[in-house]
Amino acid sequence: MSTSPSVTRISGLERVKDQLTRCIACTECYGRGPHLPFADGGGVVPNWICPILDQFKFISYSGRSQQYMARLVAYGHAEPDESMAKVFYTCTTCGICDSICPRPLADTVCAMREEIRSNYASLYPGALMTRESNIRDKKNFFGASPEARDRWSEGLDVPMKADILYFAGCYASYRQPEAARAVVKLIRAAGQEVATVGAEEWCCGQPAALAGNWQLIEEMSLHNVEKIKASGAKRVVFSCPECYRAFKVDYPNIVGELPFEVAHVSELYGEWIRAGKLKLTQEMQQTVTYHDPCFLVRQSLGRRQDVSEPPRSAISAVPGVKFQDMDLNRRFAYCCGAGGGVSGDVYPEAAAWFAAKRSTQAAEVATQLITACPRCYEQLSQGARAEGLSLQVSDISEFLAVAAGL
Ligand code: SF4
Ligand code: SF4
Repeated sequence: MSTSPSVTRISGLERVKDQLTRCIACTECYGRGPHLPFADGGGVVPNWICPILDQFKFISYSGRSQQYMARLVAYGHAEPDESMAKVFYTCTTCGICDSICPRPLADTVCAMREEIRSNYASLYPGALMTRESNIRDKKNFFGASPEARDRWSEGLDVPMKADILYFAGCYASYRQPEAARAVVKLIRAAGQEVATVGAEEWCCGQPAALAGNWQLIEEMSLHNVEKIKASGAKRVVFSCPECYRAFKVDYPNIVGELPFEVAHVSELYGEWIRAGKLKLTQEMQQTVTYHDPCFLVRQSLGRRQDVSEPPRSAISAVPGVKFQDMDLNRRFAYCCGAGGGVSGDVYPEAAAWFAAKRSTQAAEVATQLITACPRCYEQLSQGARAEGLSLQVSDISEFLAVAAGL
């Protein structure tokens, strides 16, 4: 593995400049359905809405306006100020608009954040500076001790070499160790061995890339791929959709084709349950719903992900479970507000508004809400608590581990 990126990347608005003149003002990126009377889909297409437009109810927050503002800056007709920066830092980069419009909308947001970071430093949020130094100096999102990274696996005797390697990510490693332990137990229950790279795992770098620092994701990717390659793993699995997206979409653009497959753990669970390798034996008499993490059902940069059926089929296979989808699901799922940690860190009150709305939607149809993302788990748990909802929020691996009697 080379120690430098295989491709030199153009940074900032220059990267998307020629796309910025192509918005045709069709307003599709606003959303559809009863939320927006002026964009009524007439029931022909599913309802969906841009979350920040939903919250702030001001057209400046739409994908279309972001394109327009980025165009003004890219062609030297305006400079960003605080109100313009707010649009680009409250956007959750959920990618709904991006999956509707042929223009690279979410990437425009990242490009503008790069532009602000490089050329308008006084507008770059302090919370993101702290995040950068945490990732650069401690190799994790939280600035926690790098040596403590693999403490979650204590007592599990996880080896360093196996065909399947689990990349736990910062959130599960430091904040949700039980969820990481559940992944290992489920993989073993399906008759497979699983390895990790232990404390040699570094942040995937995606949170830095989303904040506008591409150089850090390059550094993280070179290290992580090198360590995983040395383990000989054929398949690398993720419980964090953000790490999954980093490896699936961004790492190949940095290091070239990866020498292993990548998958989200929910894809494995679905596959193993169908094949009878993973047996769910414990009855759970509950009405359960599922929240689709943005990075499992949408992607930017022209690659679309659709990991929406495997988690649903795994949850539905639990004896006694009655599965019920909530409004705005799969490709059109409403964002929990975490926004790759950018909008959540910089505008926590805006993020809390999304979490309250999404957890309320879940409580309307179910008593238990499952998600397959550690950030969504944290956001939605907080949302349910803040709203006083009788809704239990669970991580999919922990939920299935209980169902498997582990
Ligand atoms: S950004 Fe895309 S979807 Fe939105 S108005 Fe422009 S062309 Fe239409
Ligand atoms: S990425 Fe999501 S929050 Fe941002 S403009 Fe598009 S739909 Fe709205």
